Amino acid sequence: MSEERTEIGELGEFGLINRLTQNNETRIAGTIQSVGDDGAVIDQFGRQSVISTDLLIEDVHFDLMYTPLKHLGYKSVVVNLSDICAMNSTPTHITMSIGVSNRFSVEALDEFYEGVYAACQKYNVDLIGGDTTSSGKGFIISVTAIGEVTPDKYVLRSGAQKGDIICVTGDLGAAYLGLQLLEREKQIYLEHPDVQPDLQKYPYCVGRILKPEARTDIVTWLAEQGITPTSMMDVSDGVSSDVMHLCDSSNKGCILYEKKLPIHDEARELAYEFKIDPTMCALNGGEDYELLFTVSQEDYEKLVLNESISPIGYITEAEEGIKLETKGGNTHNLKAQGWNSLSNEKK
Ligand code: ADP
Ligand code: MG
Repeated sequence: MSEERTEIGELGEFGLINRLTQNNETRIAGTIQSVGDDGAVIDQFGRQSVISTDLLIEDVHFDLMYTPLKHLGYKSVVVNLSDICAMNSTPTHITMSIGVSNRFSVEALDEFYEGVYAACQKYNVDLIGGDTTSSGKGFIISVTAIGEVTPDKYVLRSGAQKGDIICVTGDLGAAYLGLQLLEREKQIYLEHPDVQPDLQKYPYCVGRILKPEARTDIVTWLAEQGITPTSMMDVSDGVSSDVMHLCDSSNKGCILYEKKLPIHDEARELAYEFKIDPTMCALNGGEDYELLFTVSQEDYEKLVLNESISPIGYITEAEEGIKLETKGGNTHNLKAQGWNSLSNEKK
């Protein structure tokens, strides 16, 4: 053993993944896409599958004080399906592994599984296995999702071309604001347990954090229109950080327009209540589970027919950097302030 000791915080989540996987070798011819995207792609005699996995840890990724177990079960599945969608693939199967302490009753786990099965039904996927173990403390959830994709129609983060239009589905920032609201009400409850939480005013934002959806509808719609994005990923860390990953992988730059960022009215209202800038929430919030993708300009006319897709900018050369044009017409560099779950705080 060497004497060296590097703190994980020095590398950060992405630096750590890079270090641990830099010497990873690909031995199998069918491994088309390995580490580095939302999912891996493997080819088995012409059929292609996409695989993605996620780990959720109590008090890092979720707080059971305000997360109903049924919603947690649903969300654990959905966040994985979102990564499958992000590869332009349709989810088909999941495995579910859990680590539980004796703090949890059988009935509590039944409730968690009600959510798991609700997601399987909604997205038409089969739960085909998993693992169950005890955990010292806290609830640990690991889901692996598998999807199918038309051969060679999978979409990586790395294919964006200069002039391509950057699009995002749905709206941004509401999940982050919903989380802030739940955290605020939790603090109030801890100090005054007799006060009822006031969540009714913002059902959309609370729903976005507790019960996100995966955009399988967009994958289907794009296929129907004959549009294959040039690059794609899902928005889990915040569009600002995610667009940087996309541009880095594609070795390109971009310009985003503040006025084009889709923000739900209720999210805007809640941001004002918290006295924070809705744009900052949209850029850096995270947990939106929307799709971020690029298309060539010739697909633009077809694209605008879909009301849940917003063009938010376009791809430039890498030298031009990653920029945001504000509503006031100023242009500045985008900063990645994505959620860093390794340190559990904003970078
Ligand atoms: P996402 O946010 O879409 O789930 P991540 O940022 O977690 O993606 O992961 C980026 C890439 O690194 C993915 O290809 C993932 O499979 C891979 N990866 C993450 N952690 C590890 C690990 N410990 N060992 C090997 N590969 C990893
Ligand atoms: Mg992803």
